[in-house]
Amino acid sequence: MKRVAIVGAGPAGFYSAEQLLNAGFEVDLYDRLPTPFGLVRAGVAPDHPKIKSVTRVYEKTARHHAFRYFGGVELGRDVTRDELLERYHALLYAFGTATDRRLGIPGEDLEGSHAATEFVAWYNAHPDAADHAFDLSVRRALVIGNGNVALDVARMLVLAEEELAPTDTADQALTAFGESGVQEVIVLGRRGPAQAAFTTPELRELGELTQADVIVDPAQLEGVEEPADTTAKRNLEALRDYAARQPSGKPRRLELRFLRSPVKILGDEQGRVRAVRFVGNRIEQGRAVPTGEEEVLECGLVLRAVGYRGEPVPGVPFDPKTGRIPNDDGRVLGEDGRPMRGEYAVGWIKRGPSGVIGTNKKCAAETVAHIVEDADLLPDPPGDEDIEAWLWRRAPDHVTWEGWKAIDDCERAAGEPRGRPRVKLVRIAEMLEAARSLAG
Ligand code: NAP
Repeated sequence: MKRVAIVGAGPAGFYSAEQLLNAGFEVDLYDRLPTPFGLVRAGVAPDHPKIKSVTRVYEKTARHHAFRYFGGVELGRDVTRDELLERYHALLYAFGTATDRRLGIPGEDLEGSHAATEFVAWYNAHPDAADHAFDLSVRRALVIGNGNVALDVARMLVLAEEELAPTDTADQALTAFGESGVQEVIVLGRRGPAQAAFTTPELRELGELTQADVIVDPAQLEGVEEPADTTAKRNLEALRDYAARQPSGKPRRLELRFLRSPVKILGDEQGRVRAVRFVGNRIEQGRAVPTGEEEVLECGLVLRAVGYRGEPVPGVPFDPKTGRIPNDDGRVLGEDGRPMRGEYAVGWIKRGPSGVIGTNKKCAAETVAHIVEDADLLPDPPGDEDIEAWLWRRAPDHVTWEGWKAIDDCERAAGEPRGRPRVKLVRIAEMLEAARSLAG
């Protein structure tokens, strides 16, 4: 039987695992965190439990007899690419795009200016963000970007305490949101209403906020050409509905503004964000072209939601221009531009940070088809040592699927009396302790 190591236990990793198992492969799924599910656990907003329920599909995959999970094992830190290649017929990189894209403007690193990806990680209890703090005592927050992440963070900032209470929002974030002074959130896009990257259900959802009026200045929609793209058309309809609404006096407001690019984040004497300078844009052939008109918006918090970006992993080919692993429909390409035997990529690190969770299923099908096609040419790996024994030596704290189930049980048990799906453990040490509790 051929063995594949998948690195990254998010949706792309799990869909690939499912399809490889169906094709008769053995699969070991590695993740650098003890916990699986990638952005389903640490990206999807806590008030979207239905989207998270996709984990049931992944759990079914994990029950397959030829599947093993090794959490808390980081490629490049605990094990190397070469070591994995010595032990598996194929290696499938599914580790996503770990960091944020930068704006590249002055003031980006002032206190109070954060990547939305960090904010998301924080409210979702990602261990990397366990020590982050966000000052929510400010009155106005600006969210830069017009994608679904921008909508997620804007919504989280205006949800009522009662709306967040029954979710799996990280405890520390629940407290901070409960004490938040944010009354106004402005989401700003560099292009126009017809070019926004939102998906329509996410945009429409803003209209259901109990604590915030959604504000769209009708003047922004005047003269906008009817887009050909269906999503853009529906988005425009949603924006027109918002523009026609009268504010109903809810305590908070969430405003959508378009055609503005941030050029500088301004700070006060203490080095804290106090405002952002924008330049106005007009659209020419779909592109934002500056008009030269400037505007300064005061604010105390800036969340930059302009996309994710891949990070290089030692030993694994990486294209710094695209932030991805160079590949041909999932076959990893070497420096000479030719496929590297036994190495594949899937998900965001293969195709870039776009699409919804389900997009990864199709993406996995493309890559897995290549692995199946190549299978006969993949030689048996030289290492005949027991992989588990090797891992116990190299990453003694690694977590198996049973270990994750122990963490899961512990989190669910903590959530149950509070009517929450779970109380997430934030620190790796707590997770490892919960995983060990399995042994009694
Ligand atoms: P995204 O959809 O690619 O949106 C990024 C936004 O940032 C775009 O509006 C882009 O504008 C803007 N941007 C990029 N560079 C900029 C700059 N220098 N200055 C100003 N604006 C800039 O990315 P995302 O929001 O991070 O989401 C990633 C993926 O996850 C998307 O496919 C998204 O749909 C998905 N997602 C889905 C959900 C959900 O289904 N509920 C939730 C979260 C995320 P331009 O268009 O002008 O480049």
